Amino acid sequence: MTEQADTSKVVRQHLEMEAFFTGFAVKGRSDVPAEPSRPSEEAVTDAKDAKEELEAIAAEVRACCRCGLGSERTNAVPGEGNPNARIMFVGEAPGADEDAQGRPFVGRAGQLLDKIITACGLKREDVFIGNILKCRPPGNRDPRPDEIISCLPYLQRQIECIRPEVIVALGAHAARTLLNTNKSIGQLRGHFEEYVAGIGRPPIKLMATYHPAYLLRNYTPDTRRRVWEDMKKVLAELGLPVPD
Ligand code: URA
Repeated sequence: MTEQADTSKVVRQHLEMEAFFTGFAVKGRSDVPAEPSRPSEEAVTDAKDAKEELEAIAAEVRACCRCGLGSERTNAVPGEGNPNARIMFVGEAPGADEDAQGRPFVGRAGQLLDKIITACGLKREDVFIGNILKCRPPGNRDPRPDEIISCLPYLQRQIECIRPEVIVALGAHAARTLLNTNKSIGQLRGHFEEYVAGIGRPPIKLMATYHPAYLLRNYTPDTRRRVWEDMKKVLAELGLPVPD
C-alpha cells in the first residue's frame, strides 16, 4: 500500500468516527435538512461576527502547537480573505514563501492562483484563501494523518464561519480531506461534490481542481483548459459572468 493511500485511510477513519460522535460530518452527502435562509439584517450582524470569529481562529492558529509542525514553523498561516466570501479556496499547506510571510498562496503557486482569480473577474479580497494545514511541513513533504487530524478543526470552523457558497479544493490533498474520500483528483474534479459542515447545516458545493503548483509543473493547454472549465462551472453556479 502506498503512503498516500494509507494516509487517506487513517484520516478517513478518524473523520468517520468524529462524524459519528459529533455529527460534524465531513463527507460527500447529507441526509440532514438544511437550515432555512436568513433575513439580511441578521446576515449583516453575522458578517461582523464572522470577521471577529475569523480573527479569533487566526490568533489560536498562531499560538498552536497541536502537532510537531508548530515547533518547526517561522509563521503559521491561518488563511485570509473576505469573511463574507462566496468562494473559498482551500489548498494543501503553506510552502516556504507562505511560512516566511504568514500568508497563504504568496509564492509562485500563489501568483498563478491570483491569475486564476483575476481571470474569473474577481479580486483576492473577494474570496477567502486557506489551507488544510496551517503550518509548513518541512521540505514541503505531504501532510501526515496526525497533522491533518490536529489542524482540520481550524478549517472546519473557518468554513462554518464564512459559509461560502462554493469551496474550490486545490489539489488532491484538499479535495480528499474535505470530501473524506481517497478518490483521485482526476475522478473528483470537473463536477460539483458536496461538503457537509455539520448537523442542520446546508451542504456546501465543492469543486475540486488541480493545485496551481501541479499546473506550474504541467503547464499545458490541456491542464489549463481543465482548470478553466472547473472555474467556469463555479462562476455559473454563483450566477457570475462567465468570461470566454
Ligand atoms: N500551496 C498550498 O497548498 N498552499 C499555500 O498556501 C501555498 C502553496
